[in-house]
Parts: sequence; structure tokens; C-alpha cells
Amino acid sequence: MQVIKISHSKNTDFMAQVERESGQNLSLCYQCGNCTAGCPYTFVYDIPVSKIMRLLQTGQKDAVLSCHSIWLCATCESCTTRCPNDIDVARIMDVLRHMARREGRVAERTVKVFWDEFLNSVRKHGRAFELGIVASYVGKTGRFWTDMELGPKALLKGKLAFKPHDIKGKQEVAKIFERFKEEYGG
Ligand code: SF4
Ligand code: SF4
Repeated sequence: MQVIKISHSKNTDFMAQVERESGQNLSLCYQCGNCTAGCPYTFVYDIPVSKIMRLLQTGQKDAVLSCHSIWLCATCESCTTRCPNDIDVARIMDVLRHMARREGRVAERTVKVFWDEFLNSVRKHGRAFELGIVASYVGKTGRFWTDMELGPKALLKGKLAFKPHDIKGKQEVAKIFERFKEEYGG
């Protein structure tokens, strides 16, 4: 078990930044564990979501931003729905991913690559071009056999197009990405 010396490592700036960016009050969490009980990904998390909340309350920036859980979170919002204190826990997880990304701390590179390729596709076509995303993802990660068995099934059902279909007004979508880049540095 890892023992953290709070008196040495409490980062109050980090706590304030998480509260500011998420709009949530961290001190409301009383560690009931409901969020962890409902989280479908607890079985793969290195730190359960309620424990992440406790680490946030004690300002443990390094432990939180370097953990795998924030990248494995599916944003299903089960934690948010189950919190008796109306804390938007999923929003906090989202904010932590952004903070980790900005600081170049990516514990699950393949997850980041997938998100990047998904967003690149939406920026380019106004919607996701699934085959293009898969091709870029495989090219960058070398994971050729990931979900390979699903490809033929999806093709037979007409769920995978061979060419991208751009939406009308894709330029407007691209402008959203430009604005984000201007505000947050992409
Ligand atoms: S949003 Fe993330 S942390 Fe919350 S329950 Fe879903 S997977 Fe778990
Ligand atoms: S459900 Fe809410 S109060 Fe309970 S541990 Fe999770 S964040 Fe804290």
C-alpha cells in the first residue's frame, strides 16, 4: 500500500484549479463510495474513482494526474448520477484528463491516440469517418488485431463506409476546433 505524506505533498493550487475548471466543490465528498460502486470500469482502474476524490481533497496532484484511471474512464456518468451530494464526478474526471494532457502526462497512450484520431476526423469531415480513424489508430499504435473480429460484421451491416462523407457546414465544425486551439492552445 502506498503511503502519502499529505503535509509534504498537498498542492492547494491544484485543488483550486480542479474546482475552478470543473465547477465542483471537492469538500462535499464524504467518501461514501457510491461512485466507485457504480463505476463499470473499477475492475481495470489503478485508483478507484472515490479514492481519486479523496486524493483531490488532499491535493495529491502527482498521484492523480499520473494515474491510469482518468484515461480509462468511459464518461458514462454513473458516478455523477449516484453521488448523494450532487457532485459531477464524471466532469471532474474529464477535467483531470485535460489537465494531464496539457502537462504531457499520458498514462494510457493508446487511449489518447484514439481520442486524437477521432477528433481529427470530426475536425476534417464534420463527423467521424470510422475506417479512417481505425487506419490512423492502427498506424500509430501498431495494434493491428484490436477488435478485428468486429470489422466484417460491421461491414456486412453497412455500418462502415469506405469513403468519408463530409457533412454540410463542416467548416463551422472546424471553426469550433480553431476557437478551442486559440483559447487553450490545442
Ligand atoms: S464516468 Fe468514468 S469514473 Fe464515472 S462511473 Fe463512468 S467510467 Fe466510472
Ligand atoms: S459518490 Fe459522491 S460523496 Fe460518495 S464518494 Fe463518490 S464523490 Fe464522494
